[in-house]
Amino acid sequence: MRKALVVGNWKMNGTGSSIDLLMQGLIAQLASCSSGIVVCPPNVYLDQVRGHIEQTTISMGGQNIDWHDNGAFTGEVSAEMLADLGCDFVLVGHSERRTLFGETSEDVAMKCEASLSKGIIPILCVGETQAQRQNGETQDVITSQLVPVFDKLDSDAMAKVVIAYEPVWAIGTGRTASPQQADDVHAFIRQTLAEKDLNTANNIQILYGGSVNASNAVELFGMQNIDGALVGGASLDAASFLAICQAAVLV
Ligand code: PEP
Repeated sequence: MRKALVVGNWKMNGTGSSIDLLMQGLIAQLASCSSGIVVCPPNVYLDQVRGHIEQTTISMGGQNIDWHDNGAFTGEVSAEMLADLGCDFVLVGHSERRTLFGETSEDVAMKCEASLSKGIIPILCVGETQAQRQNGETQDVITSQLVPVFDKLDSDAMAKVVIAYEPVWAIGTGRTASPQQADDVHAFIRQTLAEKDLNTANNIQILYGGSVNASNAVELFGMQNIDGALVGGASLDAASFLAICQAAVLV
């Protein structure tokens, strides 16, 4: 049985005081949630959030890493640095990184490897654009994003990865994939993984991301292959994020 996981991607949002309020609101109602919960603040607030989550079941993740161990990479942060700050997870290959910062699937594979080498679980984001879906290219795009990661990681390493299917057209647009559309792609990802390792395919957590909110979460989580959510906008409001976490009960 896979455990439900809900991950909040705060992106480049928040201030010291708004983050204190958000964390206090989350922690006050945490007992009502049975899913795993991860929050991914901007790097500069990781230490502040670490102070809040001590003694709670909330985990913390970075939003990106550089795959090098260290060196002359101004502005970058390594996996080891995130681990030092108490991160257990890191987002890799978010569509905003791929489109705005030119990350390739090969870069993403190296980031997965680097994070696992420091004990951090990569949340590997994949997803197609609107045009690619309209052209019937969704499966090809997902495959092209997964294969470089498969090539780099052996089965044991792959089993530790979390995958997030995030159709680019649904991120921050208010347009969610229908539960069936999402489940079809999740099933395809599982089937692709099964060709490498059946056990990993059955056990890996595959999250859906793209305008998840309190109203659509229950239906999405009701689908067989959807194990949780990667949440952007709605994760910035404690009540909305908690409602999604409460809905994340897998049956
Ligand atoms: C995201 O940024 O990963 C995301 C899914 O954003 P939103 O929930 O706002 O669509």
